[in-house]
Order: sequence, then C-alpha cells, then structure tokens
Amino acid sequence: IREDVSTPRRTKEIIQRYGFSFKKSLGQNFLIDQNILGKIVAAAGLDASKGALEIGPGIGALTEKLAQEAGQVAAVEIDQRLLPILREVLEPYPHVHVIHGDVLKLDLQALFAAEFTGVSGVSVVANLPYYVTTPILMKLLEEKLPLEHIVVMIQKEVAERMAASPGGKDYGSLSIAVQYYSVPELVCTVPHSVFIPQPNVESAVIRLSVRKEPPVSVEDEAFFFEVVHAAFAQRRKTISNNLKSRFFPGEGRERLEQLLAEAGIIPSRRAETLDLAEFAGLSNTLLQAGL
Ligand code: SAM
Repeated sequence: IREDVSTPRRTKEIIQRYGFSFKKSLGQNFLIDQNILGKIVAAAGLDASKGALEIGPGIGALTEKLAQEAGQVAAVEIDQRLLPILREVLEPYPHVHVIHGDVLKLDLQALFAAEFTGVSGVSVVANLPYYVTTPILMKLLEEKLPLEHIVVMIQKEVAERMAASPGGKDYGSLSIAVQYYSVPELVCTVPHSVFIPQPNVESAVIRLSVRKEPPVSVEDEAFFFEVVHAAFAQRRKTISNNLKSRFFPGEGRERLEQLLAEAGIIPSRRAETLDLAEFAGLSNTLLQAGL
C-alpha cells in the first residue's frame, strides 16, 4: 500500500523522481499536511453524490482526498510538467479527470456540462495559486455557475477582506462583490509549515456558500459594481466626493446630494460604512435618475 501523496516523504520522492522544479510564477506551493487537507475537504461537505472541481492540482495531494470523497472530480492544471505525475498518482481513481489548461481561459459552463452530469451538486475545492486568487474567484462567482460551495486556501489578508463587515479597514469592493454572490466564512488560518516550498505570506481557508439569489435587489449589476468601485476610489474621501469625481465631474454638487438624500445616505459618510443594501439602493436611485 502506498503512502498518501501529501506525506512529506512521498511528495519529496515524487518531486525527485520526476526532477520537478517549483515555479514561483505559477504560485506552486504544495500541501504536505494531512490535517489541513482533511479540514479543507470536510468544509466542502462532499459525498459520492457530489462533484468537485479543483483548480491547480499540483502533484495531486488534495485531488487524492477529493477522489476519496466525491463522485466526480475534475481538476484543471496549467503546468504541463505535472500531467505525467498526475497520471501516475491518480491512476487508481477513474472518476477523476485532469484537464490541461488555464482556468481563466476555460469555458467553465461547457466544462460543467461535460464533467458533472451524474451529480446532484458541485463545489470548487482548491489550494489556489495566490497570484490569481481574485480573478479566479470572481470568474467563478460572476459566471453564475451552479455551485454549492467554494472552499479555497488563499492569502489570509485576502480572506479577511472577502469576509469583512462594514466599518473596518478590510471592508471594500472585494467584500461587497464576494458577499453579493456568496456567504463567506473563515474556516481556519494555516501555518507556513504545511507547504513545500513555504509561501512568504500568511494563508487561510475560506468557504463561500454560493447564494441562489442575490440578497438585495439590484436593477443593473454592472452599474451597481461601477458605483461600488467609484465609491471606494479614494478611501479617505467621503462618498459624495468620490461619486462626484466619477459621475458629476465639473458640475455643482446639489444634484448628487439630492440623489444621495433620496437614497437615504448622508453625503459625508465614507463608502466603508455602507452595507450591501445601501449600495443597492444607491445604485438603483442613480440609475433611475438617468446616470
Ligand atoms: N493543489 C496542490 C496542492 O495543494 O498541493 C497545488 C496547489 S499550488 C498552490 C497551485 C497550483 O495551481 C499549481 O499546481 C499551479 O501550477 C496551478 N496553476 C497556477 N495558475 C493556474 C491557472 N491559471 N490555471 C490552472 N492552474 C494553475
């Protein structure tokens, strides 16, 4: 019987035998800790009726655990050098399909239709490459894929921003975007020692439970996010000053302040104090005013 891929001994053996060298530019930090892998997989609530999509399987440490829990597993890996390793390691699991590609360029709707036919729900489970965490998560959320959970290892600081409530320094447009599509929950923080090689930043596991419907009613999503970004353009400025630069340049302030009043927002507030419902109300008001 073979040891798990993620034991330090087997990981080192595989890396040596294939002459694999880590590419920092691809965010390659592999997991070598059973306990953390167990926590990640448990947070996804998988069973044989469920599917799992992994992004960046590496040498298959997490993929192996997913294969033991889920009914179908698809794993997208960009680094061609890992494909022969994955073929060997995942050979005992015919319900795992490795796809060579860049997850940011893949047609995920088509991937879901092709890979997850016989399952009752799909979750994304991954130890993400940190250089592209936000684009990957925003793609998963914005494409409105039929997902149950997204359980990912990411930079701790990014996890805190995603889960932040109004009022603090971590709360910003990323918090609003993530919370519009999902309910975030910090699962655990993770020491550097669980990775090989060890990353320079602190890490955490976060679970996003994907919402079936947004929690607030927004008439035009693209405009809503435009308003949110404009409101946070310069964090120390008031909402009124930030929105004026973006939507009423050169004009008097009166009309903007009238619209803010209509939306129930005092012009001297800062964006970081507005919750999701207030941003939704504000963007609907501005939209109705013809902006
Ligand atoms: N899942 C493995 C583990 O936990 O040990 C490896 C995680 S490592 C942090 C990130 C993985 O994502 C690497 O294998 C890397 O090659 C892959 N990767 C990086 N950018 C990618 C992209 N755009 N699309 C797909 N995979 C990517």
